[in-house]
Amino acid sequence: MINGETYLIPISSCLKTFGYCRSTIIDFQLSEVDFIPNSLSEIMLKHKYWKINDIIDFYGKEHEKILIDYFDFMQINRYAYFGEKYETKLFPDFSPEWDFPSVISNAIIDISDFNTTDYPKLLESLDNIYCFHLQLRFFKGICDRDKITELVKLAYSKSFHTLSIFLAFDVFGDFESVSNLVRTYPKTDNVTVFSSPENRKVDLDDQVAFINFTTNAFNPESTCGYVDTKFFSMSVDHFTESQLHNTCLNRKICIDSDGFIKNCPSMKHNYGHISDTTLAEAIEKPGFKDWWFIKKDDIDVCQDCEFRHICTDCRAFIKDTENIYSQPAKCGYNPYIAKWQNQTGWISVEQWRVENPGWEEQAIEIRDMNKKFLVNNE
Ligand code: SF4
Ligand code: SF4
Repeated sequence: MINGETYLIPISSCLKTFGYCRSTIIDFQLSEVDFIPNSLSEIMLKHKYWKINDIIDFYGKEHEKILIDYFDFMQINRYAYFGEKYETKLFPDFSPEWDFPSVISNAIIDISDFNTTDYPKLLESLDNIYCFHLQLRFFKGICDRDKITELVKLAYSKSFHTLSIFLAFDVFGDFESVSNLVRTYPKTDNVTVFSSPENRKVDLDDQVAFINFTTNAFNPESTCGYVDTKFFSMSVDHFTESQLHNTCLNRKICIDSDGFIKNCPSMKHNYGHISDTTLAEAIEKPGFKDWWFIKKDDIDVCQDCEFRHICTDCRAFIKDTENIYSQPAKCGYNPYIAKWQNQTGWISVEQWRVENPGWEEQAIEIRDMNKKFLVNNE
């Protein structure tokens, strides 16, 4: 029950991110995202644990009605609790810290030739550095069903927590056999099957896994790096990792189809070849870890976007190839007008900036608010 003597206690699992036009508020317990005005985020930040009457006095009686609407909105949506003073100490703050218990959390292996590469040995090397998630991408032309099954079986026997698989429909030739593979090796949490006769999504009810059959031909360059709301991650891990790290490349290692060790298979630079460099050696080479620390707050446009802590950051496909801090090329969102490319009224960021020459001043103010907000949650 809200009254002038109660205190504003924001729920710490509902995290706000300021954007140029609006804020997102993410309820991590419900995995839901909503939009709120930046002014409401600011109130929750500045006046956390304040008495309601004191907040109204701070802004002045003329703003009382809108403030009461805001308090009602927070309560109805369970973004805040209004309680007694002693209760302000009963709601622990959210910690924005992130860490991971191994040096590599995820790996991609592009498999193009079973005869020239010792893939079991590669799995062993990744196992030795306690890689958590493994993605195996079987390139078109790799159709040996027995060898593929053998490699998936071997990966299943290692300490990887989850597996994802990309392959062509031809390998198994029917829908049921792919489902059986996932059921037999249940660490497999997602499979994408290219060149399928039809688009079909199969959720395996008896396990947390899905299979996406697509009529698209396998082309890693065209399928990776897309930015879309359906790829946003509502996990606390992702949100906290994104505060200081890159959400795609941090703790990632890849072996491309020619055996070169990279941060991402689509990037040009490599850190040695698996024939003469161990994965552990590649990770320690100068430059390898630099990508891990390019965070959304460093990136042009993204740093003003309210989605930046739930969005994945692609560094392989960027708008300006001369600027490593450039916006991901496959993003069609303009955070300065809060519109996606397919929405009425959308214009490009470049055009909008030309039409609004003083934009950066307001953007800097909002970036500063974000920094304060993070500190406030520590
Ligand atoms: S950097 Fe881009 S292309 Fe590379 S793995 Fe990440 S999203 Fe895909
Ligand atoms: S502008 Fe950046 S943070 Fe926002 S949706 Fe696009 S890629 Fe993601």
